[in-house]
Amino acid sequence: MTELTALTIAGARDGLKHKKFSAVELADAHLLAMEKARALNAYVLETPERALAMAKASDARIHKGEPHPLEGIPLAVKDMFATQGVRTTAGSKILGNFVPTYESTVSAHLWRDGAVLLGKVNNDEFAMGSSNETSAFGPVINPWRRKGSNTPLVPGGSSGGSASAVAAHLALGATGTDTGGSIRQPAAFAGIVGMKPTYGRCSRWGIVAFASSLDQAGPFARTVRDTAILMRSMAGHDAKDTTSVDLPVPDYEAAAGQSVKGMRIGIPKEYRVDGMPAEIEKLWEQGAAWLKAAGAELVEVSLPHTKYALPAYYIVAPAEASSNLARYDGVRYGIREQGRDISGMYEKTRAEGFGKEVRRRIMIGTYVLSAGYYDAYYVRAQKIRTLIKRDFEECFAQGIHAMLTPATPSAAFGIGEKGGADPIEMYLNDVFTVTVNMAGLPGLAVPAGLDGQGLPLALQLIGRPFDEETLFALGQVVEDAAGRFTPQRWW
Ligand code: GLN
Repeated sequence: MTELTALTIAGARDGLKHKKFSAVELADAHLLAMEKARALNAYVLETPERALAMAKASDARIHKGEPHPLEGIPLAVKDMFATQGVRTTAGSKILGNFVPTYESTVSAHLWRDGAVLLGKVNNDEFAMGSSNETSAFGPVINPWRRKGSNTPLVPGGSSGGSASAVAAHLALGATGTDTGGSIRQPAAFAGIVGMKPTYGRCSRWGIVAFASSLDQAGPFARTVRDTAILMRSMAGHDAKDTTSVDLPVPDYEAAAGQSVKGMRIGIPKEYRVDGMPAEIEKLWEQGAAWLKAAGAELVEVSLPHTKYALPAYYIVAPAEASSNLARYDGVRYGIREQGRDISGMYEKTRAEGFGKEVRRRIMIGTYVLSAGYYDAYYVRAQKIRTLIKRDFEECFAQGIHAMLTPATPSAAFGIGEKGGADPIEMYLNDVFTVTVNMAGLPGLAVPAGLDGQGLPLALQLIGRPFDEETLFALGQVVEDAAGRFTPQRWW
């Protein structure tokens, strides 16, 4: 039998149903794998007792013949999601040992459907980053290595722990959040699948807020089908999030494997950026050829405002962050540093509690929102955002069903290799992903090949609002053609 930790979610669901193994055995196998993989620093908190209790309850329901859709499936949860009774830190010192008294809606959906919590996984502090290097818990190591090299590589960010855990078989799937690429970029760097749903598709309630108009929760898994299975559970209307949309949740799993014949796929010419590695260009062409062979029609399209997306994102996101993070004042949550008076206490707590990148974002955000600069920066960035959205709308109105682009401008890089002297070097990682958040669209990252150094590379599919199904159908075509990618175990 396949190792339990190497199963897909669909495979595990099948094995559990036919009682080939129990949910407790499945959870145990993962807990053991996690113990052996601590060098990856993927988990910031393991919850073995909870996992085994949840697995036991799953076994009882399976025994009674009443399994829920995700019964017994062991998952990792990004530390941005509030988990009731389980420490939640957002990767920041400022939250200290904060233990929420409530559960995020998305994770509550997963437990409602029978999934098992293995633990909380690492992320960039407040999800600000593209390499997981800004976490107060230290960097996560990517299970992938360059051929013949021991250099530790980043798993991408901000959901680096989620990506590393799923790629290294330390969970069958994981949750992530994506504000500018934090699900799709780490999925690409780790050779797994990740989806950023349409804004409003998954509830943001109970998720630590970074930039509320851009944040969306989404799933990571090792196959397109598994990602679809998790999506169905995570999605859905929630009265507690006013931006959550009241639309029926389709059977996403059924969409994976559906024909893509006759679909019109846009290839946005502006994504052919300067200095793009030849390997990524080749991968993109290969992806287009696969979709064509499956009966889709490839059309060159133009998204003329693409080049403004990254600078506009790095105004809008910090602006919202500076406002959202005002609540960490040493009074309501986490750590407190004493000061001479109350402002002194705020200042010291915030200086002590926030890391460097978060402080930078708060300063940028405060600056672009300040009187005198508001119109020049924030209002302009919002106007650009509208134009970016309109670019996509025009293509969709012309009958384009989805777009195909590369997911990232490079493969995974080494820890400490980027952004040290110039933060913009790190921000450039998001060049292909931020447009999707700015426009509120769904995006799927699917592994599509390995580069010359043996590292995974991915393609991105961008869809019409609330048409995640088309992305799963197209993603399945890419996966069927490209195959799946697993790192060699060295840890
Ligand atoms: N890398 C981007 C940033 O640092 C996106 C992060 C995210 O999607 N949470 O803002």
